[in-house]
Amino acid sequence: MSFSDVLRIMSYILRGRTRLYQCYTNVNWRTCEACLSWHGRIVHRPEDFPKHDGCPHELLAFPVWRLGEFRRKEERMRAKAAQEISRRETWRRAVELLPQDTPTAFALFKEAVATDLYLAEIEELVGKHREWLAENPGARAALRELLVSGWKGKFAKERYERQPELARTAQERFGLERIKELLP
Ligand SMILES: [Zn+2]
Repeated sequence: MSFSDVLRIMSYILRGRTRLYQCYTNVNWRTCEACLSWHGRIVHRPEDFPKHDGCPHELLAFPVWRLGEFRRKEERMRAKAAQEISRRETWRRAVELLPQDTPTAFALFKEAVATDLYLAEIEELVGKHREWLAENPGARAALRELLVSGWKGKFAKERYERQPELARTAQERFGLERIKELLP
């Protein structure tokens, strides 16, 4: 534990606080940026973490003397939330640029899917550029390949390996079929 953690713990104890809370939300495309900015933060009153309709909201209580360990967890959680916010921005720019600057859009799509990929966002992308995709079969096929490989990569990642194998492969197969349907 660092010296600054020891000082923080002492200052909490001097103020009579023996219990702290770590804020949790889900890190995915659905959670709003305001809630994501709370992911991992440590508060001393549960009401400090504002509730927001539609975003998952959980607090984990821990004793103040374990602050060092929870602060390290906070750093990892905040990095993950920041990565999701930047993934969204990269994906959003890629979608916007697709018809005008296809090579840049593809580079951005590649960057975004390396972090994560969501079917709802693919549906939205195809809905937005339906005509352009119909008129550009080459780009459509290349986009399909990129998303298929991103989707496979998503399921190869360690965090999905903790799910039961059957659920994981069913989810993966469903997504692959949907991508091929959306981008024939
Ligand atoms: Zn929210």
